[in-house]
Amino acid sequence: MPYSERLKKLQSALAAERVDSFLVLAPANLRYLTGFTGSNGLLLVEERGAVFFTDGRYTTQAGEEVRNARVVTPKKAVLDAAIKLAAKGGRRVGFETSVSYPAYARLAKQFKRRLRPLNGVVEKLRLVKEDGEVAAIRASVELNSRVFDEMLPLVKEGVSEQDLAAEVEYRMRRHGAGKASFDTIVASGPRSALPHAPPSARRLRAGEFVLFDQGAILNGYASDMTRTVFLGRAGREARRLYATVLEAQQQARQAVRAGVRGAAVDRAARRVIRQRGWGRYFSHSTGHGVGLEIHEMPRLAAGDRSPLPAGAVVTIEPGVYLPGFAGVRIEDMLVVREGGSDLLTPTPHDLIEL
Ligand code: ZN
Ligand code: ZN
Repeated sequence: MPYSERLKKLQSALAAERVDSFLVLAPANLRYLTGFTGSNGLLLVEERGAVFFTDGRYTTQAGEEVRNARVVTPKKAVLDAAIKLAAKGGRRVGFETSVSYPAYARLAKQFKRRLRPLNGVVEKLRLVKEDGEVAAIRASVELNSRVFDEMLPLVKEGVSEQDLAAEVEYRMRRHGAGKASFDTIVASGPRSALPHAPPSARRLRAGEFVLFDQGAILNGYASDMTRTVFLGRAGREARRLYATVLEAQQQARQAVRAGVRGAAVDRAARRVIRQRGWGRYFSHSTGHGVGLEIHEMPRLAAGDRSPLPAGAVVTIEPGVYLPGFAGVRIEDMLVVREGGSDLLTPTPHDLIEL
């Protein structure tokens, strides 16, 4: 990955913000800028260079992974060491607004009026994926779809949601994933009407929907997919529900292209669901960005006015949740392109009856 280029882009962004030193603490941003995969690090970025701070557990690892910054393992806390160095540098010190309150308090005490909060400056760079990132995301998506395919023969009457969720995560790791990108959701029958149901001990019964929302982390990059299958033969009402969500999902996918606003994509999905009279049962937004984190920029939601850039990777995931009956959600990942999009998720969309 082109870490040095990314760091240069950040340095020009900082110059535009008129910040002389910038402290990066968010793990995904550290990984993006340096390749560091550990849990405790801090990057001090200045006009001409960068210094990476970590603790003694990561001396060897940081030496191998971080090539575009000087690596320092101070005896005291990394934040204190970075503050000491930044205090010698330029006038204005920027920090990420996602820092913890204790870290903020420490920075405010030291730098007072020299401190500048910068919101999402690295996240904005991460929004447009490089080709190498799209390839890494595609590999994560394909691994996730392979696991889903393997799960289908295991979806049977009497198996619990918890068993299926554990099996999903075990298989991800067997295929080389670092871990799941979020806690796997398996929700059956009326529980599928809870959009973020934790898997329970409930056992599957015939004549019900089973919703899988799953994602993996492979080489740092997340995937995210939802499919809702039917155990047995689906009746008329279940088919109508599935067909509506699928139509909404297709309309939203077709609305994705560079320059379109997140709100317009959201509207395309919502219009279909509203026409069937289920508008109030689509209770979340249509999609989100995915990359080093499972939820990142952009948002595809009502009121989101920023145009989608080419190269952003997003989910499209409308759902309808009818309390006490069932919920259906269908979620894919795609890359925003000029004039359209590339679908990353290879799993078919038609209703699977098992
Ligand atoms: Zn999902
Ligand atoms: Zn999602």
